[in-house]
Amino acid sequence: MGIKIRDSLKEASDQAAMLTALDVKAYAKELGADVVGIAPIERWEGAPVQMDPRQIMPDAKSVVVMGFRVMRGSLRGIEQGTYFSNYSSMGYGGITYLYMPLVVINLSKMIEDFGYEAVPMGHQSDWRAIDNEGGMRDGYSRPVAPGRAAPDVMVHLRMAGYLAGLGEIGYSKVFLTPEFGPRQRLGIVITEAELEPDPIYDGPQLCNRCMACVDNCPGNAISRTETVKVTVAGRELEWGKLDCEACGIAFCGGQVVEEEGVEGDYSASIYGKQITRNDITPFNRKPPNLYNTGQAVCGARGCLRACMVSLESRGLMKNKFHKPFRREKPWTVDWSQEPPAAGEPLTAKEAD
Ligand code: SF4
Ligand code: SF4
Repeated sequence: MGIKIRDSLKEASDQAAMLTALDVKAYAKELGADVVGIAPIERWEGAPVQMDPRQIMPDAKSVVVMGFRVMRGSLRGIEQGTYFSNYSSMGYGGITYLYMPLVVINLSKMIEDFGYEAVPMGHQSDWRAIDNEGGMRDGYSRPVAPGRAAPDVMVHLRMAGYLAGLGEIGYSKVFLTPEFGPRQRLGIVITEAELEPDPIYDGPQLCNRCMACVDNCPGNAISRTETVKVTVAGRELEWGKLDCEACGIAFCGGQVVEEEGVEGDYSASIYGKQITRNDITPFNRKPPNLYNTGQAVCGARGCLRACMVSLESRGLMKNKFHKPFRREKPWTVDWSQEPPAAGEPLTAKEAD
């Protein structure tokens, strides 16, 4: 199906036809993107140099931003407490490192068939010159010339989603769309093609500051009181300050051992800290990563699941289901019990 569209567009290209935003969006969806928006490059005016797409492509005219939905079903096994790997693989690493690259690469090929250079970009953030807080990584790389960025530039994908009109950034710092709420990952194509832009999202407000993300984050990683404010495209955005280290530890199902002498048996160390298991995981040892960074043992309990439940209860997501996501009280493991012997069941207790 996709090949058919691509061939017909290529023929159009051979006839020196115009590449339109509608063509690009239709093809991106045909390839597997769930939502697509286009931002003109001018909306990055004033962006930090390390996040500016023009540092990658000086003659860029447009940024095509695509959202790839995280299926609600990929979170079902974690909600049941019986199947954690599905979200980490099919809802996280697999989308980021397998599905999304195929789409952004093929969309870029289509745009280049029309004679416009296109940069496919997913999550190559491991090479970026900035750290999680936006500061420069110490001694990592240096600017290629005065006034230019140090490699690697990493375009802020959530900001790109906002600038392309796909939705808003929630208090949790997770990107929210009217289609899927917090359930998507974002990829972009930066191109020299001038495409008709979408307006910045102006639909119903998605984040109502309900703080369900804060209350349910197992790492207490999202501040209730401290916020971050940025101004983009003349608008002020604000979200809760995220403690990336706390998130990174809880994300893997761990928690920092506070008391002296307590053995951290969950993982040798994360961020150089002694770690034990968090009560949100029934695993005695941290499971291996899936698809590079798929290790979301926390199941995004706060920033995704609780947020989704909040948006669902307010009827805000267009991707509707016959049954609500949350059908019973979430569970947690009772660590006061001895681990079960092989073949014996583990008893779970209800959360408070
Ligand atoms: S859980 Fe509530 S406060 Fe947090 S991002 Fe979602 S809607 Fe906003
Ligand atoms: S990924 Fe997990 S630990 Fe990190 S903010 Fe979301 S709920 Fe909290």
